[in-house]
Amino acid sequence: MRRSRDWLLSILLSGITLLLCGMLIGAGWRAWRSNTQQPVLVAEQATPSATTTRATEPAATPLPTALPTVVPPTTAPSQTPTAVSTTAPPSDNTPATPVTTTTPTTVVANLPLPELPSGPLPNFAAALSQPFAGALAQHTDDSLYRIGALLNPADHTITGRETVRMTNTTGTTLNEIYFRLWVNAPFYKEGDIAVADVKVDGQPVKTELSMDNTTLKLVLAQPLAPKQSREIAMDFTTTVPTTGGGYGIFNVTEGVWALYNWQPELAVYEHGGWLLDPVTEQGDPTNTDAANYQVRFAAPPSFKLATSGSEVAAQTVGGETIHELASPLTRNMVIVASDRFAKTSTTAGAIKVNSWYLPGHDAAGKAALASAARAVQLYDQRFGHYAYPELDVTEVKLGGGAAGMESTGLVMIGSGFYAPDATDPLTGLGELVPAAKSLSELDFTVAHEVGHQWWYGVVGSDAFKRPWQDESLTNWSSAFYVDETAGAATGAAARDVFIRAPYDEVLADHDERLDQPVDHFNETEYGAIVYGKGPLMYDVLRKQIGDPAFFDFLRRYYVEHAFARVDGDGWHATLAEVSNQQTADAFYQKWVEGDKISASDLPPGGPLESLLNSMGTGGLPTETETPK
Ligand SMILES: [Zn+2]
Repeated sequence: MRRSRDWLLSILLSGITLLLCGMLIGAGWRAWRSNTQQPVLVAEQATPSATTTRATEPAATPLPTALPTVVPPTTAPSQTPTAVSTTAPPSDNTPATPVTTTTPTTVVANLPLPELPSGPLPNFAAALSQPFAGALAQHTDDSLYRIGALLNPADHTITGRETVRMTNTTGTTLNEIYFRLWVNAPFYKEGDIAVADVKVDGQPVKTELSMDNTTLKLVLAQPLAPKQSREIAMDFTTTVPTTGGGYGIFNVTEGVWALYNWQPELAVYEHGGWLLDPVTEQGDPTNTDAANYQVRFAAPPSFKLATSGSEVAAQTVGGETIHELASPLTRNMVIVASDRFAKTSTTAGAIKVNSWYLPGHDAAGKAALASAARAVQLYDQRFGHYAYPELDVTEVKLGGGAAGMESTGLVMIGSGFYAPDATDPLTGLGELVPAAKSLSELDFTVAHEVGHQWWYGVVGSDAFKRPWQDESLTNWSSAFYVDETAGAATGAAARDVFIRAPYDEVLADHDERLDQPVDHFNETEYGAIVYGKGPLMYDVLRKQIGDPAFFDFLRRYYVEHAFARVDGDGWHATLAEVSNQQTADAFYQKWVEGDKISASDLPPGGPLESLLNSMGTGGLPTETETPK
């Protein structure tokens, strides 16, 4: 009977192995499962699809035989890189001292670039939802990116120019400014960004690369006083991996170009210093301030683009289509492009929701659309208004344990859910527990990524130092979505699969503090604590302070920190507003800072946990050995 319990537990744990956006937990689970003798007969009877779909990846669809061609150049960025030096990786977040000086290899394709946007700004307010149309007035110091870029499918590169109008909002004089070039990390394989011709207010500036070239320091000739602005300009050439960079979020596979972190992004200055954390193989590479983006992006005319923000115009000239994009108050300006995409759309109130997927994947494409529409409408009503007029859901070949990934106004969902022969890994659980019948990992994953539009997108936080702030609340939001759309019993089953099972496994041995940086957790703990303990904390909080105060807390947290960044103190302070200081202090110390949670502190488990417990103590119930 222990073996049967292990089998069910492995099914439960499988729910989280592919769910977690931006984290690597699958390898640990596979190792765990490979060491567990599988009761094959029971598994085949109960969940035939769950045991087979894990074994093989969905069949790859062939690439188009003819790649789009690009016409000869009319303009090209400067090919004269400025002096750039590399540094040894620092042992902490303190910028390292340069130790060598080199000139980077800047591969600038000889192709036409669209002109850098200039002149009047687009109507950014029109790319915000009506309730947020006035938000720009409160964010006049946010950075403005203007980018002209060209996607070159033939050599897997993007060539571009970028200017960033940056105002010093740090409260202190700056002698240097940092950018992040995330995809230079080894984690992104052959992914690469090379920069050249870096200027500040039109003057060449000394630059230094460090931390595997993921950090670019600009040494300012003149200090930048508080509230003063500078215009930073640079050329860049980005190489897109074909072998699955990162979690696949920056990658071209099966004709789908997933472009995350594709351009140089300003680093964040917070708590008296620049955030220059390493790119790790768990957690999200998404530490940014909200900024406004005006992008002129050229691609072959056959390419369809799903993007953060809104497309305000498109023009086909000389064999390429130039897409004019406006993306206000944006954490990450992401593009997913393909000449193979099919698209289906719907509306959720005033919000247009689009689902983009490969040919033949209509069923999952429509299911993802329906999930996204339900989720965005629910969160809009209960947490506060969605910030943009549009939401894109895109099929992307993700990997490394990620099922989905969030960005501003756009979410990526792993292609493993989409193949016509793909069966949801949770199929079969309903035969054990009726309440689990309608559980779907695709549904839960889409609801999770849509939840990030609130927790990450609008309410920003440090994804490296405090991953609990967005991930825990987002995973709770997804469970809440199941409660509200499928009923409380199914919501309880969803918690069992996605939240309770991983946390119970760790808690059987020890508890961990919730508020820790990504790299303080091992793989198992990261999933268990950030995606398990954290969401359960919100269930406990809701029960403790009651629904009116709890949803008041969420709505205040959303509004008070909209398009800003919040830390644990901000969370704590908002909680004190809706309860009282003593309650907030005690709750925060116990759940966020403490590591002494025991099973008796947790709300009752759901039907699958009950079943699991009965197996552990009394053996596998007869009816589950021979499911009907
Ligand atoms: Zn997430």
